[in-house]
Amino acid sequence: MNMSVIYIKDLFKSFGTLDVLKGVELNLEPKENLAVLGKSGSGKSVLIKIIAGLISPDKGHVEVLGKNLEHISKKELEQLRLKLGFCFQNSALYDSMTINENILFPLKYALKTDTPAEMQKKADQVLEAVGLLRSKNQMPSELSGGQKKRIGIARTVVMNPEIILYDEPTSGLDPITCVEVNELILRIKHEYDTSAIIITHDLTCAKHTSDRISVLLDGYFKKTGKFDEVFNEEANNEIKEFYNYNF
Ligand code: ADP
Ligand code: MG
Repeated sequence: MNMSVIYIKDLFKSFGTLDVLKGVELNLEPKENLAVLGKSGSGKSVLIKIIAGLISPDKGHVEVLGKNLEHISKKELEQLRLKLGFCFQNSALYDSMTINENILFPLKYALKTDTPAEMQKKADQVLEAVGLLRSKNQMPSELSGGQKKRIGIARTVVMNPEIILYDEPTSGLDPITCVEVNELILRIKHEYDTSAIIITHDLTCAKHTSDRISVLLDGYFKKTGKFDEVFNEEANNEIKEFYNYNF
């Protein structure tokens, strides 16, 4: 019995002649945050889309919360997706809805189990958790980049996911706002007992939000471990070079 919440072995994915993932192995433990680092175009977003069942792999074993995605029914995949929170890189808020309506949207249309009062209570709780309860009647266009990221995270967390997949949660933010988002990611892990994969270019984000990091290079994870182990004196030159030139 595998206790990992995500277990991936020998994962391959190509688009035409472009080989993106070439033997990815990954395991995510319960309540663990794993940061995934890698150059632009290295396949990080493809990897988490495969985990979310949005893209099919060419080959390999992908197991999420004990379900093998290769042998999963449509119904089971729907159920599984409710336990996975996907935080898109661009926050993907609905511009024509208020912040409150954005948060209620997944509860109304995906979960469909709560009364309106229960939904509003959940929405208020997550808005409070991300520090934006007072902005609930504003429109997304009235918010700063950092606030939008926090709302994107709130909209994911309101569904009470077991695993959160963050795609570059701090990209485009100034350093102080990055710190706020990093703190939020950590707080969510502790308050909601979630596991997470955090795709990031931001070393500070990786170091502060994650228990382990993995570096995706040449289509597979060259190195996985605690931050200080991966970036230590004896680190693989390729990883150092990547670190020097890409962050
Ligand atoms: P990143 O590491 O920057 O998130 P991606 O995972 O988005 O990179 O993409 C990895 C590579 O796969 C890129 O070269 C991208 O152009 C290509 N790619 C991603 N999705 C598709 C797709 N649906 N069709 C064709 N090529 C794709
Ligand atoms: Mg990406």
